[in-house]
Amino acid sequence: MTGIGIALSKGRILEETGPLLARAGLSPKEDPESSRKLIIPTARRDVSLVIVRAADTPTYVAHGAADLGIAGKDVLEEHGGEGLYQPLDLGIARCRMMVAVRKGFDYAGAVRQGARLRVATKYPRTTRDFFAAKGVHVDLIRLYGSMELAPIMGLADAIVDLVSSGRTLKANKLVAVEEIMPVSARLIVNQAALKTRRAKLQPLIEAFAKAVQP
Ligand code: ADP
Ligand code: MG
Repeated sequence: MTGIGIALSKGRILEETGPLLARAGLSPKEDPESSRKLIIPTARRDVSLVIVRAADTPTYVAHGAADLGIAGKDVLEEHGGEGLYQPLDLGIARCRMMVAVRKGFDYAGAVRQGARLRVATKYPRTTRDFFAAKGVHVDLIRLYGSMELAPIMGLADAIVDLVSSGRTLKANKLVAVEEIMPVSARLIVNQAALKTRRAKLQPLIEAFAKAVQP
């Protein structure tokens, strides 16, 4: 790709990025939600949106396949962030990464007694690091979605997942017991590209910075 690609995912990230893209002069030429195209031109001829899975955004940018990207802190922590510069918290897609258990499960007791905790998550790296820092032994169960099912079905004692309103937890008789980190979406930039293509990328970073200011 000779122009500038901005990698981002459909769904929540794209929805909440829409107004920022408009203010930065980067409105998509067609609706990415309904289009089958994965590369969407924007109001600027040299800038395209590149539609990827949320967890793949850091990979595209770290390899320089896209110069820029928009990804949640959850995804960035899990990726590790190598090769990425993170100049800007966009303040969108806000939620919290939490540990949750079935209502009535004695989480504090399980942790205190040094029992092995079975934890289901799509964030194995973040989860391992979090519990290791607490000195809690965990058996990780890697899932790809619907984490709330795991404690109900007896697959796990706890889950690590994103929570915003808490309605999904409540509907499945789960309670949040611990916060791992607050999450919001970040602008990410390929570190090498920022050096070699600074003249093109720096003004875009600044346009995003302006767009997030209320
Ligand atoms: P996927 O299900 O493929 O991971 P989502 O659109 O659900 O895609 O999530 C993409 C990103 O949006 C997540 O990585 C996270 O940063 C953010 N996000 C996910 N769920 C929520 C939520 N409940 N509230 C706010 N932001 C969220
Ligand atoms: Mg989701």
